[in-house]
Amino acid sequence: MKTLGCFKYSRLLIIFLAITFLLCIITLNTASCAEVEMKGGYHMMVGDFKIITLSDGINQRPVEQHLQLLQGNKEKMKDVLERFYPSGQIEGTVNAFLIDTGSKLVLIDTGNGKMVSPTIGKVIDNLRAAGYQPEQVDEIYLTHMHGDHVGGLVSGKERVFVNATVYANKHEANYWLDDSNQNAAPEATKRTFQAAKDTITPYITAGKFKTFEGNIQVTPGIRAQGLFGHTPGHTAYVIESKGDTLVLWGDIIHVAAVQFEDPLITIAYDSDKEEAAKVRQQILAEVVKNNWLIGGAHIVFPGIGHVQANDGEYNFVPLKFPASK
Ligand SMILES: [Zn+2]
Repeated sequence: MKTLGCFKYSRLLIIFLAITFLLCIITLNTASCAEVEMKGGYHMMVGDFKIITLSDGINQRPVEQHLQLLQGNKEKMKDVLERFYPSGQIEGTVNAFLIDTGSKLVLIDTGNGKMVSPTIGKVIDNLRAAGYQPEQVDEIYLTHMHGDHVGGLVSGKERVFVNATVYANKHEANYWLDDSNQNAAPEATKRTFQAAKDTITPYITAGKFKTFEGNIQVTPGIRAQGLFGHTPGHTAYVIESKGDTLVLWGDIIHVAAVQFEDPLITIAYDSDKEEAAKVRQQILAEVVKNNWLIGGAHIVFPGIGHVQANDGEYNFVPLKFPASK
């Protein structure tokens, strides 16, 4: 039953938030709460790899406005969202993920950068708070080239990650960096093309941008998996170490409160809505079948958890917080 799925998800989230809140109250001046905060993100291990979710911050948007972006049963979505967000404001989370493989420092996406709003653009600050410097990042793997994923690559026209090589799927680069596609796009989308160009070009000029094709191993323990639809080259990165797996799936889910329950719900930002919905169903089924952990760019911080299936609907089960170290 669809309503049951949502209640389950809501209840889990409420329990998760309550536990988090209580832990922070109980341990306010002790190590666990303070350390999580001071370390700039959510730290966990996947096999031998250290994974840190870096929050870029939160963007608030009224439920009504968000509903206009979603395609699906509007009445039902309105009902779910109003119960889920009693304040009437949807809190849009943005996460990036830092991976310390032991021999290499890899960043999956970079957040919005500083220019968008004062409440977001915090990936770099959180990376520093986690004990790393942008110059230490060796490679950046982009899930796609929307502004909330590439914005942090630059500060003005300068590269933030001066020693990093940026990687993206070839279809993604060919689409967003193409002048004729930009010229043919609606006015609002032209800005997305421009953001992709402004953030990627300094890396191209420096010889620090590379594309790949197919589901390749981008580095030992991290493979790319094309999940095209949201954008033409939208890609997940699958972290595999010592039998543990974490699928960092970018924008497979935008509004968790409704899209886990009904994966057919699409959003205005999808380049190909039909394909985006199809691919969402496929990857949801795949992670459930394999009991893989997932990490989402727009799932409430730290955005990592398991997915459960229930009669064609899905529930998200977040990892407990703070993480064990
Ligand atoms: Zn996004």
